[in-house]
Amino acid sequence: MAGERIAVFDTTLRDGEQSPGCSMNLAEKVRMAQQLETLGVDVIEAGFPIASDGDFAAVRAVAAECRSVTVAALCRTSAPDVLRAAEALEHAAHPRIHTFVATSDLHLEYKLKKSRREVIEMTRQAVSLARECAQEVEFSAEDATRSDVDYLCEVFATAVAAGATIINVPDTVGYTMPVEFSRLIRRVREQVVGDRNVTISVHCHDDLGLAVANTLAAIEAGARQVECTINGIGERAGNASLEEIAMAMKVRADQLPFETAIQTQELYPTSQLLSSIIGCPVQPNKAIVGRNAFAHEAGIHQHGVISNPLCYEIMTPESVGVPTNNLVLGKHSGRHALALRYEDLGYSMQPAEVDEIYERFTSLADRKKHIYDQDLIALLQVGSATTERIATEAVTVGGSWAQSTRV
Ligand SMILES: [Zn+2]
Repeated sequence: MAGERIAVFDTTLRDGEQSPGCSMNLAEKVRMAQQLETLGVDVIEAGFPIASDGDFAAVRAVAAECRSVTVAALCRTSAPDVLRAAEALEHAAHPRIHTFVATSDLHLEYKLKKSRREVIEMTRQAVSLARECAQEVEFSAEDATRSDVDYLCEVFATAVAAGATIINVPDTVGYTMPVEFSRLIRRVREQVVGDRNVTISVHCHDDLGLAVANTLAAIEAGARQVECTINGIGERAGNASLEEIAMAMKVRADQLPFETAIQTQELYPTSQLLSSIIGCPVQPNKAIVGRNAFAHEAGIHQHGVISNPLCYEIMTPESVGVPTNNLVLGKHSGRHALALRYEDLGYSMQPAEVDEIYERFTSLADRKKHIYDQDLIALLQVGSATTERIATEAVTVGGSWAQSTRV
């Protein structure tokens, strides 16, 4: 059953990179962009060219490297901004100029010091100019969710009339709620889009932890492009997380009959690559890609998962690219293999501890032909002071996926 297609607009290299501790150099941005292309995103927003020479160079380099995706460059509404974005996209296979201006009275009065009329005029001019430079123009109304809705729709209508084919509704400050946001998207759809060939996009921030929920609500209300980042990085509390949106649609296709081009088995590798590039670990309990996302700690849960993973897993680790070790131990495996396997799982043991666990291992191997990682973890759980100590050590090791799997 093919659902309606949702375009994934990744802004890890722009909004994500803008957040503290997440900066990347040129080579790192290109490496990340290549992985995003492999992951299957539709659009890569590679930077804000007028903001710095580094951003300009990044957009150029990503545009030269990534030929199958659309490469977007961000700009404000002034002519030099738009022209700089266009210049950076000069050699892109599929360029998109993404221009934005704030539409809330708060921003108009305190930041832009412009009247509502002036902002409408700025929108018209920027979109028209962008349209002369690039085939595809996206327009964003910054702080849309705190803007007067009638005025917001008027600005969007102006952008569409001037040639924008993607209108983005950002929840810039992470303020909206799913039901409210869904109402807003419907209103924009009815009042601005109608039967025109214009895509509604959403860009949600996570200040109240609702970025993904708001994004999904918007899709149900008619949005067909989602702006998001890997690991949810971005300004302040971050952006909607790409991996969560993609997997919500995949796992709950019954509720959300939509499709993306995301290769979900690339989610974990992409998350790890970003994490290693920016030197910022993913929080352990992060949905989909956190190291505990598929770890089962409670004994009763482990028992359930060992009997049938469906008991506690709504998706498999493999489906999001979490590596699982195929090495299966059996009764002929020696102490060394066992110790190594535990080491891989993050448990370093002293020889005496290996001896102790090996005894339990062989007695299990007599009863069970193949011993899997889950069995090994369960073995540790046959509680003893030693086991507890091993588990504590494992937590402090940190690092790869399985290392903090503990009992
Ligand atoms: Zn943002």
